Amino acid sequence: MQPLTDSSCEMKRRIEVLFISLLIVGPAHAGQKSSSWFSSQVKSFFNTVDDLNTSPKNPCPEGPSSSTELDNPTNQKRVWELNGFYNPYFKNIDLYSASDNTQYTHSVQVDLIMIRGSGWDEETIIERYRKAAEIYKQCGIKLTPARFISVTPPSGIVDIERSPRNVNQENSVIKFASAVPKSKGMSTMFVRSFTNGSTGTSGPEFAYGESSPLYNKTWLTTDVIDDNYTGIRENYSPEAHELSHNLLNIGHMDGEPNLLHGDYNSLNDVLTDEQCEIMKMHETAKEMP
Ligand SMILES: [Zn+2]
Repeated sequence: MQPLTDSSCEMKRRIEVLFISLLIVGPAHAGQKSSSWFSSQVKSFFNTVDDLNTSPKNPCPEGPSSSTELDNPTNQKRVWELNGFYNPYFKNIDLYSASDNTQYTHSVQVDLIMIRGSGWDEETIIERYRKAAEIYKQCGIKLTPARFISVTPPSGIVDIERSPRNVNQENSVIKFASAVPKSKGMSTMFVRSFTNGSTGTSGPEFAYGESSPLYNKTWLTTDVIDDNYTGIRENYSPEAHELSHNLLNIGHMDGEPNLLHGDYNSLNDVLTDEQCEIMKMHETAKEMP
């Protein structure tokens, strides 16, 4: 699908995204927490209306027309396309073996989003996330439901400008994250690089706020240019580490070796009982029946 450029299509796109997003993520963002995000969507919609010129040009591609169609995977695909991505592919995955008998008390939904052209592949991503799932077992937290999504990015962007201040750059992390459809849980973006050399990052509330497009997202790169991380990436799980920033809503720790330690020599798979309890209170953590 070609990007929508006509202003009347843009208005329609905004209405559709606002409407579909509210229905898809509404339950996860019910109540006070959704107000700032909702306000930003409404504001964005009215800004678009303000910018309209008066001459409708090409007809818009058709999108979902009623709320009864929204559970259809085709319509989830449509949200990605409306936001400028191409050929989204979805697959439900199970990160656990059939013999897993862990007593889970909570679940966190995860979307593993592979940006095509980044150098990542499906098998590697799922295998790496299985390791993260293994680490969260110690807390009784199950990463489920899990989806693998691969998608072609707008303008082929695979290298992301990390600074949230550089919002006008085409590859701005804010722009890119804004185009990623909201999830009920955590989304991990698998990209090629960050322009500042970061190899992984997260979007906790304390750093960006709940209305930020970075909130509840994590990012991993294929490029690892820092020798320190090249050496240890296979020995711990950056996927689990970045998730824990979001779930614990904190930065790095010092003291005993830990999954969230600030010194790469002290990074390991350990989460304390206290950390586990805090994570279970995160809005994306659901009590299991
Ligand atoms: Zn970190």
